[in-house]
Amino acid sequence: MKPAPFVYHDPRTVAEACDLLATRENARVLAGGQSLMPMMNFRYAMPDHLIDLNRVDELAYLRCEGEVLRVGAMTRQRDLEFSPEVGKRCPVLREALSHVGHRQTRNRGTLGGSLCHLDPSAELVNVAALLGGTLHVVSKGGARDIPFAEFAVAYMTTSLQPDELLAGATLPLPARGRGHAFAEFARRHGDFAIVACSALIGLDRDGRIADAAVALSGLGHAPVRPASIERALRGEKPGAAAFKAAAAEAGGFDAVADAYVTAAYRRHLARVLVYRALEQASMRALEAGNG
Ligand SMILES: Cc1cc2nc3c(=O)[nH]c(=O)nc-3n(C[C@H](O)[C@H](O)[C@H](O)COP(=O)(O)OP(=O)(O)OC[C@H]3O[C@@H](n4cnc5c(N)ncnc54)[C@H](O)[C@@H]3O)c2cc1C
Repeated sequence: MKPAPFVYHDPRTVAEACDLLATRENARVLAGGQSLMPMMNFRYAMPDHLIDLNRVDELAYLRCEGEVLRVGAMTRQRDLEFSPEVGKRCPVLREALSHVGHRQTRNRGTLGGSLCHLDPSAELVNVAALLGGTLHVVSKGGARDIPFAEFAVAYMTTSLQPDELLAGATLPLPARGRGHAFAEFARRHGDFAIVACSALIGLDRDGRIADAAVALSGLGHAPVRPASIERALRGEKPGAAAFKAAAAEAGGFDAVADAYVTAAYRRHLARVLVYRALEQASMRALEAGNG
């Protein structure tokens, strides 16, 4: 398979890349190429101009600053996975990354590429929803921030304008003592999940759930943060009764069907994975409290 002809551009700065995006018709940026190159080879994507971000060094950075993690769009998934700071302060991100494709794809694939590709089942998209991140977007006309919750507008379609570039993301770090979990079901290890659920749980002094965050992906075009489940968990003793109630609610959510998976099966997975994620996150919160 070969891509349709295109003109290749090799900018070295964000300003140059933005200038190209503003002045070239039907342009697309290239990050790790792990999704875009196959799409071009299959001719699902036929840009006339390909703007390669791989030499724009200012887009690759990774810093924990206080209670947030700042990540450049061109930061490789493998660098996130092996960052000691990410492992320590945001282990749910590391755990999610271990499910993203294969080590070869993670060597090239970037945070920004995954978020902009916006596959409904992508693990990094799920975790961005869980953490409630903010995306930093630039164009020739200026810069703006987009809360991650407002990034998806339709199936694999972001709210980025054609002349805009994702520069980076700020992800709030889970508060200390939070237990985490990332649970997914995929046909084979390394495939996109059919459904995935991540969770963060904090316990109070009595061992009850003080706060809970849950992100479910794979049911629709974007991950959901089920507020009703998060609310209902607060004040509950972590255990089968609370987790079963949460799982039962997740099993009633709307889900899409496709050529491979029925909506009913997705709902079944949501039920199972919500239970597992809550159970593991609570166990880890308990261990963190006892540790
Ligand atoms: C065999 C295989 C298995 C995989 N399995 C999984 C999996 O299990 N889970 C998973 O989540 N992913 C999986 N992937 C996809 C992988 O994670 C990709 O890395 C990711 O989807 C895209 O990231 P990228 O950096 O390669 O972006 P690219 O492929 O270069 O770009 C993807 C899209 O995002 C746009 N884009 C990229 N960067 C920016 C930016 N800064 N601003 C604006 N637009 C931008 C591009 O124009 C393009 O439309 C797999 C890929 C392969 C090849």
